[in-house]
Amino acid sequence: MMESPIKRVAVIGGGFAGLCSVATLMEEGGFEPVCFEKTDKPGGTWCYRDEAIEGVASIMPTTIINHSKEMGALSNYPPPKECSNFMRHKELYRNVIEGAKERDLLKYIQCNTEVISVKRTADYEQTGKWMVTVKNTASGEITEDIYDGVLACVGHINRPKMPSFPGQNSYKGEIIHTHSLRGVESYRNKRVIVVGMGCSGLDAAVEISNVAEQVYLSTRSGAHVLQRVGPHGYPYDYVLLRRCIFFLFDILPSNAVSWLLESLYLDPQFNHNIYAVKPTHHIFSKDPVINDHITSKLLSGSVKQKPNIKRFTEDGVIFEGDNEVTKADAVIMATGYTWKFPFLEKGIIMEEEGKINLYKCMFPINLKHATFAVIGFVLPFGPGFPIGELQCRWAAQVLAGAC
Ligand SMILES: Cc1cc2nc3c(=O)[nH]c(=O)nc-3n(C[C@H](O)[C@H](O)[C@H](O)COP(=O)(O)OP(=O)(O)OC[C@H]3O[C@@H](n4cnc5c(N)ncnc54)[C@H](O)[C@@H]3O)c2cc1C
Repeated sequence: MMESPIKRVAVIGGGFAGLCSVATLMEEGGFEPVCFEKTDKPGGTWCYRDEAIEGVASIMPTTIINHSKEMGALSNYPPPKECSNFMRHKELYRNVIEGAKERDLLKYIQCNTEVISVKRTADYEQTGKWMVTVKNTASGEITEDIYDGVLACVGHINRPKMPSFPGQNSYKGEIIHTHSLRGVESYRNKRVIVVGMGCSGLDAAVEISNVAEQVYLSTRSGAHVLQRVGPHGYPYDYVLLRRCIFFLFDILPSNAVSWLLESLYLDPQFNHNIYAVKPTHHIFSKDPVINDHITSKLLSGSVKQKPNIKRFTEDGVIFEGDNEVTKADAVIMATGYTWKFPFLEKGIIMEEEGKINLYKCMFPINLKHATFAVIGFVLPFGPGFPIGELQCRWAAQVLAGAC
């Protein structure tokens, strides 16, 4: 029997990366994509939900995107000019879904279908094909099918990492991860400790301090904090994401470029030493933190900065260097995320020292055929969307045999 020239590709996840994969497969031509989304709606991170779901990224009602619209624009789908520079999550979600509708992509998305297994077929060595098993999350029905290619677009900011401090079990207050944080009303007039100084830690500390009696921000290492509003009121990334700045990387060591940026750009906004948040690492060695309000919160004392937690007591914590207990009604862990591909046959993606072992962050290095790729496993300095788009385009061309 003649094989169909149309290649069937299973796209796992209907977030930005999944939708972009479907769009680029259709642009490339010669593909029949099937996109499985385990929740009831496409949109991934940017589809706000009142409940946190393990394995699905979550945002707060107040989440704002960290980069301006032009910097995060897709090459053939710029955001409309009416859009705000830094979109709130609802506006971004509307754009993503409108874009998907305009390109007629939604018909390829099967919601309420969770991919539970991806394995090489018995004839993989010859064909490079994959057996994909999916579960209908509404009916429980399980089905399987064979695909010429698989694109895993499942996100990587969705499985909370919970730390464990001495005495944590004896603490009688509430402990949650920012993954589960939604409104802040339940913290009205409470004393709250936020652990971690990444983007979600600062968002949590700032938001909660609007209603709480006191917020403590506990950080081991500090952070470089960028504000969305840059010089002369322009978005900060208009000023920073420029060829001339990246040219400096060609002629100077990266620590020297970092030092220049820290001294000439960040410290004039607020001196990280005075605020005691200066980290030991340089700005370009870890993703910087974006927050517009933390400095005024620290100045007003509604957020108080504290070092790492030494141990928990029944009614609070003792911070390193302190002798007395800081009482707290709730502790919010903004301690990051870990990643997993629970559906994937063992041995496809290797982990070495917490790092994912993929060629160009996309292709498993030990497979005979380049018919499986991961999309979106990047944390760039700046917006992730354009990089995601390029990954989708490259994957589509590789699957098409065009490169
Ligand atoms: C609070 C927060 C703020 C962020 N801010 C920014 C920002 O400002 N700029 C930026 O560029 N990025 C930001 N990000 C990163 C964000 O993850 C990306 O913007 C982008 O949305 C990632 O898209 P994705 O499709 O890779 O992953 P996701 O949006 O996480 O989508 C993955 C989808 O896969 C589905 N899925 C997972 N497993 C399965 C399965 N087994 N079967 C079927 N479906 C499955 C999930 O339900 C989900 O819909 C932020 C993330 C968070 C959490």
